[in-house]
Amino acid sequence: MSIDFGSMEKLAEGKTKIIYENPDDAKVVFMVFKDDITAGDGVKHDVIEGKAVVDWKTSRDIFEFLNRMDVRTHYIESPEEKVSLVKKLDRKIDLEVVTRRVAAGSILKWGNVEEGTRYDPLITQFHYKDDPLHDPMLDDGYIDFIIKAKGGTEYARMREINAEVFVLLEKAFSHFGIQLVDFKLEYGIMDGEVTLIDEITGGSFRLWPYAKENPDLNQPNVLSELNPSARLDKDTYRKGEDLDQVQTKFEEIAGITGRFKDLKIV
Ligand code: 5GP
Repeated sequence: MSIDFGSMEKLAEGKTKIIYENPDDAKVVFMVFKDDITAGDGVKHDVIEGKAVVDWKTSRDIFEFLNRMDVRTHYIESPEEKVSLVKKLDRKIDLEVVTRRVAAGSILKWGNVEEGTRYDPLITQFHYKDDPLHDPMLDDGYIDFIIKAKGGTEYARMREINAEVFVLLEKAFSHFGIQLVDFKLEYGIMDGEVTLIDEITGGSFRLWPYAKENPDLNQPNVLSELNPSARLDKDTYRKGEDLDQVQTKFEEIAGITGRFKDLKIV
């Protein structure tokens, strides 16, 4: 029997998900995926039939993988299609935490770098989550000030988890001949500790297939080793490809993350 959300209280509705309270357990909530897709801080908006199922699968498989790898996440289980059960937060942190291995997207403009520049160590930036303000990036000096002067351990912890998760997912996707270029994660506080929350789907990262069988990914610029035009991620939507094509790419991602359970990552 499927869950009757009609009788449950909606706690929040975002661009791609609805959160419902769980009448049987106040410590957990239901996260229900929607078919909506947006870009440009919500300015571009479409509905793709079947996207919710695909995003739910991708997010479920990634969170189950991260839980197995002992990352602290909000994810518990997925009781039915399009629905995940997650732990309720004490407090949400209104930040988007972006980590990059390869230069792409917005950093090409503000960082004045060439596409394909490889970052080792990884670089991580914090953006204040606010669509009307276009998610402004926080100044590094300000973050260092909070971490050092104010004893703000949360930023340091988010930076640490972002890097840890990046390396795990980078390794996982490498098994399928794909480079994780960058991603955006979100956090909250649960039982007093920084915890990975939200969804991780085709809209959260850039994925570029390898351009050759054995790419040399240890060079200052790796663009020649990768094939961005065969990208699997939401840039297809941002760049205006048709919605069927976007959905096909998202299905490809779900096909890959569906095989994460067979991976032995060390
Ligand atoms: P960029 O800053 O280059 O636009 O994005 C860096 C990475 O973070 C990309 O993988 C992009 O998909 C992700 N990202 C940045 N902003 C957002 C956002 O507002 N929502 C989502 N879902 N992902 C974002």
